[in-house]
Amino acid sequence: MRWLTDIEAGKVLCLHCRKLHPLSCRTCGRCGSALHQRRPHAIALSWSFSIASMIFLVPANLLPMMIVISFVGKDPATIMDGIIYFFQSGSYGIALVIFVASVFVPVFKVTVLIYLLLIVHFKWHERARFGLRLYRVIHFIGKWSMLDIFVVALMVGLVQFKGLATIVTGPAAIAFAMVVIMTMLATESFDTRLMFDTQNQT
Ligand SMILES: [Zn+2]
Repeated sequence: MRWLTDIEAGKVLCLHCRKLHPLSCRTCGRCGSALHQRRPHAIALSWSFSIASMIFLVPANLLPMMIVISFVGKDPATIMDGIIYFFQSGSYGIALVIFVASVFVPVFKVTVLIYLLLIVHFKWHERARFGLRLYRVIHFIGKWSMLDIFVVALMVGLVQFKGLATIVTGPAAIAFAMVVIMTMLATESFDTRLMFDTQNQT
């Protein structure tokens, strides 16, 4: 299947106010923004942020997410320790929320981003429509990515309220926040139109 792209139609879209202009225009006549056929450096930025998020995934999962300080001493716990703890104590719902928000979603987002970049790189134009659907999914779930930070905050509040122990957040929380920020930047800097441009280069 072939699609007529804006470049073939001799048009350029303003990404800020969505007005279409002739290809020769350099500045938007309506909002004054600079016009680009495609987001500048979209591929390089998206690759960089995706690779950075992959690197941050390692400490986010291996370092302690929270440290429980009680009268028996300090007990650091990684995300996986937390999931196993809640699963074993019968809180399947909380275990599932933490697993989905902390492990499944970040890994899924990074995998999709790499897949989208590979579609552009290898000119898999027949996969562009599927790629766009995946892009919509990761764009939508982006705003829910910090969910498990709220779960940790809730647990810290509960435990401290009962006076059982003191919980402080561990270094994995910062690494995890970096994963979220990097995947969001990678998603925002990617230009989905690049996937459809590849049809003309084969
Ligand atoms: Zn504009």
